[in-house]
Amino acid sequence: IFILALESSCDETAASVTKNGLEVLSNVVSSQVELHKKFGGVVPEIASRKHLELLLPVIDEALEKAGLEFADLDAVAATYGPGLVGGLLVGLTAAKAISLSLEIPLIAVNHIAGHIYANFIDNPEIKKPLICLTISGGHTDLLYFEDLKGYEILGRTRDDAAGEAFDKIARYMGLGYPGGPAIEKAAQNGNPEAVDFPRAVMNDNSFDFSFSGLKTAVMNYINNQKQKNIKINKADLAASFQEAVIDSLSSKLLEAVEKYNIKSVVLSGGVAANQRLREIVASKMKELEIDFYYPSLELCTDNAAMIGAVAYYQYLDRDFASLAISADPSLKL
Ligand code: ATP
Ligand code: MG
Ligand code: FE
Repeated sequence: IFILALESSCDETAASVTKNGLEVLSNVVSSQVELHKKFGGVVPEIASRKHLELLLPVIDEALEKAGLEFADLDAVAATYGPGLVGGLLVGLTAAKAISLSLEIPLIAVNHIAGHIYANFIDNPEIKKPLICLTISGGHTDLLYFEDLKGYEILGRTRDDAAGEAFDKIARYMGLGYPGGPAIEKAAQNGNPEAVDFPRAVMNDNSFDFSFSGLKTAVMNYINNQKQKNIKINKADLAASFQEAVIDSLSSKLLEAVEKYNIKSVVLSGGVAANQRLREIVASKMKELEIDFYYPSLELCTDNAAMIGAVAYYQYLDRDFASLAISADPSLKL
């Protein structure tokens, strides 16, 4: 089964051809990061116009790299939410046109499910039940999966998403966009214990997260130092902030792992690219003898192979979309 999958929910224009679900024949990603950098974040109007320009060449390249032609495809899939509506419409409309003209099924995929399934591309044999920590630009979800058919939400962020916190603080520190990689790089030579930032504690025993208090604390720290004319050590500040985020994420994850009887823990979403987070969680899971997985770097951030992986399971379930389906910017898992 050959599936062409499209992803255009944010600022990556991506197309991928997968074979029987998890075999990635091509995974083309054209990032608009450079374009949005000067604005310090994604500008939706510019993003959708750029998707329109890039999508067809990206599709052609994905087919060519896979060594296939349109006529070889068994289905076409696209992300239909969550994300920026303009971008979603570009990918979804292209997929509809391809479905209509080739008379192949259209599969509408949830972007966040894609981030989770990215794990199974590199590691198809992950044992269940599992806990997944999805940490991206728009989401911070702690999920329990008995199998891959259903899931339970254990906790979510009450304010900013983890990636959003990285992006906002990086911008405030003048480190640029996207913030996660910039902070990680700046933190490399910094002391994570230099500044003692607060770790959000929920007093209701929930597995929810919160990053707005930390964000305010970092901004206050920067303003205070400026007022006192003290030069800020950016490496120490970045390392201390990063440590506070990782601490909050990993301690909640650990509490959940201790409460639920699971076999594996997986990370997903762009923040899962963070090396320090991977190391800290890896060492804790090793102690507990729980299998631990995260997607390879190119599968952590937005890509279409992860959409193709979800689409294959929907294909097996005959979970097809009608041509009337619309994009859903705030689609939930
Ligand atoms: P969503 O998936 O919730 O719709 P999104 O698609 O914008 O949002 P992703 O592409 O999955 O999110 O991830 C991008 C986010 O990951 C950004 O916030 C970015 O700063 C963060 N990120 C990327 N690399 C790293 C890193 N090495 N360390 C920390 N954060 C990172
Ligand atoms: Mg992105
Ligand atoms: Fe994403």
